[in-house]
Amino acid sequence: MSQKLVVPIELLKELEDAAKKTFPIECCGFLFGKENDGEILVKKVVHAKNRLESTTRFDIDPREIYNAVSMADKEGLELVGFYHSHPEFAAYPSGYDIEAMKLWPKEVWLIISLQKYETKFRAFIYDKLEPKEVPVEAK
Ligand SMILES: [Zn+2]
Repeated sequence: MSQKLVVPIELLKELEDAAKKTFPIECCGFLFGKENDGEILVKKVVHAKNRLESTTRFDIDPREIYNAVSMADKEGLELVGFYHSHPEFAAYPSGYDIEAMKLWPKEVWLIISLQKYETKFRAFIYDKLEPKEVPVEAK
């Protein structure tokens, strides 16, 4: 099934702002919404703390994941993905990202790249042992 990630423009702006605010540290967080017939619609973005405070990696405290998912569940939203920034690299999953993607194979990984002062969004899903690109559509 072909998939696409649909993100409201104001949420894309919010993600870009988050990436710029934490620069040169990677920002990270959750994408909540609904998936319908391969269309993954993001309705809410929840920011998380990058506990590695790294410029090339991120990690979220499992308790923070639990809390965010519980909160969204009460609002009838599902965890559809994660986002994080690549302050100085292209918007493609790193080896470290791919290892983490294996643990969340159904979720979309949205990467915000700020490389060369140009904001780019690309999304991937772990599929058949490698990242498969999912088109991002601004709504
Ligand atoms: Zn990454």
